[in-house]
Amino acid sequence: MRRHVLVLGDTRNDKLRHVTFESLTAACKLADGGSVYGALLGKNVSGMADQLAHYGADRVFVVEDDVLANYVPDAYARALETVIRESGAEVVLMAHSAIGRDLAPKLAARFEAGQVSDIVNIQIEGDSLVFTRPIYSGKAFTTNVMNEGMVFATVRPNNLAAAVADSSRSASVTKVTLELPADGLRTYIKEIVKKSTGDVDLSEAKVIVSGGRGVKSAEGFRPLQELAGVLGAATGASRGACDAGYCDYALQIGQTGKVVTPDLYIACGISGAIQHLAGMSSSKVIVAINKDPEAPIFKIADYGIVGDLFEVVPLLTEELKKV
Ligand code: FAD
Repeated sequence: MRRHVLVLGDTRNDKLRHVTFESLTAACKLADGGSVYGALLGKNVSGMADQLAHYGADRVFVVEDDVLANYVPDAYARALETVIRESGAEVVLMAHSAIGRDLAPKLAARFEAGQVSDIVNIQIEGDSLVFTRPIYSGKAFTTNVMNEGMVFATVRPNNLAAAVADSSRSASVTKVTLELPADGLRTYIKEIVKKSTGDVDLSEAKVIVSGGRGVKSAEGFRPLQELAGVLGAATGASRGACDAGYCDYALQIGQTGKVVTPDLYIACGISGAIQHLAGMSSSKVIVAINKDPEAPIFKIADYGIVGDLFEVVPLLTEELKKV
C-alpha cells in the first residue's frame, strides 16, 4: 500500500544525527512506492537537505526562522504541523529524543492520529504497519498494529539499519514560512546552559564506558574517561554515581535516564540494578568490571572481569593504546 512518509531531521550541533538516516531508510520501505519526505526545522538548516536526499528523501521541507534556533515547543509544533499539512504525510517518524518525545504526542493530538513511542522495528503486514517497542523497562517487547489512519512514531537510535548513502541524489527543497500564533508564543528560550557530557553523543554512541558508585569520586571517573578517549567512546553513568555527585545527571543511563544501544557497553563499578539495566540491556556486547563476583550485572554481561576497576581499567587502556 502506497504511503507518504515524513521524517523529521534530528539535529545536534548543526549536524544531522544518525537516527535520521535510520528513520529515512525505514521510511523508504514503508512508503511502498509513495513519497518519502524530509523536514528540517531550525536556523540555517537548509544545507543539510542533500544529506536527507542521500538516504531516500524525495523532497525536503525546510522551515528556517530565528525563533527555531532552539527548541521551542509551540514554534516547532506549528512549523511541523504546517509541513505535514503541505506534504500530506500519513506516517511521521522522528527520533525518540527529548524533542521527538515532546513533539510526537502533541502533533498526534492535533491530527487526531495514532502515536507509538520508542520503536525498535517496523514491519509491513498486508495493509497494516506493525511497530515493535520495549515495555516493562526493556524486559519484554510489544507490537502495536496500525490498520488505518495517520500515525506518528518516535524511533529509538541504533536499532533500525541505515542504508548506504547515495550521494548522487540531491534534494528538491520546498521552503515553508513559519506563521506564529497572533498572540505570540507561550514559551521562549532565554539562555542555554550546556551540560558537560563529553564530545560523543551518548544516545547515539557505538561504544560507552560507564561508571557507577564504585568509581568512588568525581576524580575516580578519570581512568574511565581515558579509556573512553582511546576507544572513541562516550562516558555514561549509573544513577548511583550521579546521586553521589560524581558526575552530571546528563550522563545517567537507565529507566529515568537515557536509553542507549551501543555495540559495546563497558560497565565499571555498577551493580546492575534493574533500573540501570532498563537503559542499557539492549547493548550488543556488555562487559562488566566489578569487584563483587555476585554483582547482578554479571548475569547480563557477555564478558565479566572480577576485579578492582582502578587496576583493570588502566590496564585495558594501556593494552588498547597498543592496538
Ligand atoms: P551500587 O548499587 O552501589 O553498586 C556499586 C557497585 O560497584 C557494586 O556492585 C560494587 O561491588 C562495585 N564496586 C565498588 N568498588 C569497586 C571497585 N573498586 N572496582 C570494581 N567494582 C567496584 N539507576 C540507574 O542507574 N539509572 C536509572 O535510570 C535509575 N532510575 C531509577 C528509578 C527509580 C524509580 C528508582 C527507585 C531507582 C532508580 N535507579 C536508577 C537506582 C538503582 O535502583 C540503583 O540504586 C543504582 O543503579 C545503583 O547504582 P550503582 O550500581 O552505581 O551503585
